[in-house]
Amino acid sequence: MAINGIIDLRSDTLTVPTPAMREAMAAAEVGDDVFGEDPTVNKLQEMAAQMLGQEAGLLVSTGTMGNLASILAHCGRGDELICGDQSHIFFYEQGGMAALASVQPRTLPNQPDGTLRLEDIAAAIRSDDQHFPITRLVALENTHNRMGGAVLTPEYVKSVADLAHSRGLKLHIDGARLFNAAAVLGVPVRELTQRADSVTFCLSKGLSAPVGSVLVGSREFVKRAHRARKVLGGGMRQAGVIAAAGVVALEQMTARMVEDHANARMLADMLAQVPGLVVDLARVQSNMVYFDLAPELPFDAAELCRRATAERVRMMPTAARRIRAVLHCWVNADEARTAGQVIAAAVAQGAGKTAGVVTAY
Ligand SMILES: *Cc1c(COP(=O)(O)O)cnc(C)c1O
Repeated sequence: MAINGIIDLRSDTLTVPTPAMREAMAAAEVGDDVFGEDPTVNKLQEMAAQMLGQEAGLLVSTGTMGNLASILAHCGRGDELICGDQSHIFFYEQGGMAALASVQPRTLPNQPDGTLRLEDIAAAIRSDDQHFPITRLVALENTHNRMGGAVLTPEYVKSVADLAHSRGLKLHIDGARLFNAAAVLGVPVRELTQRADSVTFCLSKGLSAPVGSVLVGSREFVKRAHRARKVLGGGMRQAGVIAAAGVVALEQMTARMVEDHANARMLADMLAQVPGLVVDLARVQSNMVYFDLAPELPFDAAELCRRATAERVRMMPTAARRIRAVLHCWVNADEARTAGQVIAAAVAQGAGKTAGVVTAY
């Protein structure tokens, strides 16, 4: 199952299209999607909207484009958007909301479980005063990437939607890994999305499609987002070859995500047993395992990743002493176990080597 013989845990974006996707792509019925005439794109958009309990959908190139098109569709110049200080939309999207939408982020502390406190949100909403920007939008992230793949529940999403709506705001959900969240909770995905005003999710992560994200919302919202997509350069033509993989992703790849979560749990349990590694097992909820190198280990995260890479296990250092491993459909249970063994050996080997150098002095 490993991709090119490598157990690649750097990200679930490393997933490659499945054989069923490649077949569907080759056989896809296509048309010019800027004219709205690509039947496969239309099918994907309708499927996604239906699954998420919304009126309409829109295929976009990336999650970043989906978030920005959503912001452009909801907000005007100078409006304010409330989001987490660890959110992807704030942290990893090049400040697009400021640079291209003239929207000001108002960040609130993300709690360890990925939530924003309701009282923080309520306090951050601006009153009607000429000095203030207009608060227009609240953005949540589910699962939460930088908070370790934390899962937001339907109850929490509802409480934020109710608060936002009671104050005249809209709710956007960056659901890049939305289907992971639904799989963890064992609920239909619409329970996490039907109360939001817009939602984006990635086809190209754990769902294993090669390209694409979908955004959904009301018909009227999607009409505006469609316009925004065009100015962002996202009006694609025979995009059905991309959408075809997305249709297969939604049909075949969502239910199996529980396997990735079980493998993440197994890997986390293994790493928690390794002297020198620190894993907060309570924070391992979906397909991500974040772990730290204890202060006594005489090498850093980049070095440990180099050692693992030499044994064909790749991971991502996310800070000097922090590493991320992401499970996905191209890493099966045996390979996850192998990864755990390789990492344990790399820690032991690294510790021994450096200790030897130290005694030589
Ligand atoms: C990956 C990701 C995105 C952006 O997706 P791209 O397709 O890489 O632009 C947005 N939000 C979250 C939480 C992500 O993990």
